[in-house]
Amino acid sequence: MIKPIMTNHLFLARPSEPASPSDAPTAQDLLDTLAAHSHECVGMAANMIGMLKRIIAFDDEGTYRIMYNPEIVSRAGEYAADEGCLSLAGRRPVTRYRTIKVRYQDAEFREKTKTYTGWTAQIIQHEIDHCDGIVV
Ligand SMILES: [Zn+2]
Repeated sequence: MIKPIMTNHLFLARPSEPASPSDAPTAQDLLDTLAAHSHECVGMAANMIGMLKRIIAFDDEGTYRIMYNPEIVSRAGEYAADEGCLSLAGRRPVTRYRTIKVRYQDAEFREKTKTYTGWTAQIIQHEIDHCDGIVV
């Protein structure tokens, strides 16, 4: 189900709680909402639809993916970027890493560890920040 976009800064600044398999409906809502905003948005975290759970959805080079409880376990290649966010007006400077290794549970809640680089890595970093209550 497509959900309204949360723009309340106080809500977005709250860290999200660990997700469990019972949060699958929230993951589906996140995918539906991301798809509805595909012209302006490449990734979303569950708090952007009002759910304080550690779930992100993002465009992985043309395929939408879900990660439950994503965690960056290593990072390399620091660079400066500027990013916008569907929940906030304007763009802001941020520090990102070209290569990240992420541990997460996939859409079927299987434990995974995967390395991402470049644009997809940048999207994931932005969405994990949302899970931590960091708003760009
Ligand atoms: Zn954002």
